[in-house]
Amino acid sequence: MKDCEYQQISPGAAPPPASPGARRPGPAAPPGPGPGPPPSAAAPRWSSSGSGSGSLGRRPRRKWEVFPGRNRFYCGGRLMLAGHGGVFALTLLLILTTTVLFFVFDCPFLARHLTLAIPIIAAILFFFVMSCLLQTSFTDPGILPRATVCEAAALEKQIDNTGSSTYRPPPRTREVTINGQVVKLKYCFTCKMFRPPRTSHCSVCDNCVERFDHHCPWVGNCVGKRNYRFFYAFILSLSFLTAFIFACVVTHLTLRSQGSNFLSTLKETPASVLELVICFFSIWSILGLSGFHTYLVASNLTTNEDIKGSWSNKRGGEASVNPYSHKSVITNCCAVLCGPLPPSLIDRRGFVQSDTVLPSPVRSDEPACGAKPDASMEDTCQDFAISCTA
Ligand SMILES: [Zn+2]
Ligand SMILES: [Zn+2]
Repeated sequence: MKDCEYQQISPGAAPPPASPGARRPGPAAPPGPGPGPPPSAAAPRWSSSGSGSGSLGRRPRRKWEVFPGRNRFYCGGRLMLAGHGGVFALTLLLILTTTVLFFVFDCPFLARHLTLAIPIIAAILFFFVMSCLLQTSFTDPGILPRATVCEAAALEKQIDNTGSSTYRPPPRTREVTINGQVVKLKYCFTCKMFRPPRTSHCSVCDNCVERFDHHCPWVGNCVGKRNYRFFYAFILSLSFLTAFIFACVVTHLTLRSQGSNFLSTLKETPASVLELVICFFSIWSILGLSGFHTYLVASNLTTNEDIKGSWSNKRGGEASVNPYSHKSVITNCCAVLCGPLPPSLIDRRGFVQSDTVLPSPVRSDEPACGAKPDASMEDTCQDFAISCTA
């Protein structure tokens, strides 16, 4: 199987990452002809304003407490969720309400008149759905840490060194070749780095997310590299659960109405009618979503790429193929759903090391933070491309 996972591009002078959990992924580098920031893996990727002199008598702060994105953290940073969790609460409410009503008002009758397997199957499906949903919602979707203050200062220095009195925006794209396909890397002005391939900045969460699929308010999180498999398992199992409950409730109502008026049976079982309505109106969208994501998994595409048409008739009708596809449905499915789960790059529980991010050296003539001139940038892009085609 080809390995299309990109490798870290070292801008040059920086030391290698200290730990896998804190490494700097992707071709992170400042724009323009100047030096690139180092990975500086030991340093946190965001600043802690005011904490530089706060070590005396102050509780050391963890990184989730100064996280710059719009996420909310729980359990001391162990769990994270997008900023707006209202729709996620509605998802939980709908699933819990429907399933509890089913167990209370339908399962006793069905177990008595048909088989005990019905509540057992429903329970297994329900626990699988809930575990997939919670893993999708509370897992880091693959957020990339932002550039440090030091790296941002190095960028400002490069802009100053252009000699222009007016602000000139740095070049916003780089190009790399992946499996023979030219892929553009866009610069993220919020995160101060070039986004690795398939990475996009979520406007809701305000983070760059690797292999960004979409932001899903129903699960209250971005769907990306680290939680896509859970999301896919969630919608697939939810399709089965919804169809199962719908079929069982119809069977229940049919058996109950034998020898009597069907309308009077509906009046006797309002809870079953409510389940029927919820399942009927939700099953179409859930089934459609499952089918669409099955197509995406089989093609090794993301929703983002599919909507943008990244690999279809690009550049005025010129044929373009998806460079990440393994040309085989089974291999694509294995790569998307069964590949190794990369570690989270935002060390949420780590402590802020403010002294390592202060931009004090940027006044010197030397490139800040150990960065070196940009002669290596093109090389690193090419290294990056080669690593993607391995
Ligand atoms: Zn970004
Ligand atoms: Zn998001």
